[in-house]
Amino acid sequence: MDKKIAFIGAGSMAESIIGGLVADELLPPPHCILAANQSNEARLAHLKETYGILPYSDSAEAAAEADIVILSVKPKQLRDALQTAASGLTQDKVIFSVLAGIKTSQIEEQLHHNNPVIRVMPNTSAKVGQSSTALAKGAHAGDEHLQTASELFSSIGTAVIVKEENMNAVTGIAGSGPAYFYYFAEAMEQAAAASGLPEEKARDLIIQTMFGAAVRMRESDQTPAELYQEVQSPGGTTEAAFQEMERHNLQEAFKKSVLAAISRSAALG
Ligand code: NAD
Repeated sequence: MDKKIAFIGAGSMAESIIGGLVADELLPPPHCILAANQSNEARLAHLKETYGILPYSDSAEAAAEADIVILSVKPKQLRDALQTAASGLTQDKVIFSVLAGIKTSQIEEQLHHNNPVIRVMPNTSAKVGQSSTALAKGAHAGDEHLQTASELFSSIGTAVIVKEENMNAVTGIAGSGPAYFYYFAEAMEQAAAASGLPEEKARDLIIQTMFGAAVRMRESDQTPAELYQEVQSPGGTTEAAFQEMERHNLQEAFKKSVLAAISRSAALG
């Protein structure tokens, strides 16, 4: 990719993205990744040392040098970050925002130009290069900007393009999603412990079982129902588990839980 990218805000999410970009060798070195981070020299020194980024003490200067500006501050820091970077955010800059719950229109109205804005929703699995990221374009962005964002965020997992109105559903499914699987893993660990299986053995089995099921689902054209029915045989162990789950109406309860996350995302937005 023949672009210079500047991060405004160089915290945890910025580091995950930088790690992916560097590992994928998506940007030709040297000095294609720039970062500015308010009053935290140590943070920038760490990113320079680890990934070879170019640190900036001035957000506007970093933005001015870049083709793409990635806003990666906390949502409540947005106004201040945009004000500080304003003179560097000229019309030619494409802006990507990873800020959860912040609409492209909220960013557009604080900019002085009609910059293309792409809203990005990664999840915490970005830390290990396995985010399921969703992308949506704002009023002045085109398909070419989505394409660039898709290429860039594929370095930390997978990237899908959605309409911005679907971002609340994305948040409830993929944003909060990792936590649901950790919760089920915890229940499986508890069942393993109650049955006397050593904790570290149980954990290895659970991790590989989740991973194997995910890969199987990705590589198969069968529906989830077809896949779980395949595991069941009459009078068998899986059927015993499903009878108990159905007795507790677990699937309906889980569906309602995900819908609660989606509603909460809409309320926060
Ligand atoms: P963080 O607190 O680790 O990083 C934010 C950084 O921005 C800090 O280092 C802070 O010093 C810096 N900063 C604050 N104000 C600034 C300013 N005016 N100019 C420049 N830098 C400034 O937060 P994070 O976890 O990296 O989250 C960043 C964004 O990513 C959030 O908006 C969050 O909603 C979004 N996000 C995070 C995750 C995640 O898994 N961490 C997932 C999805 C979305």
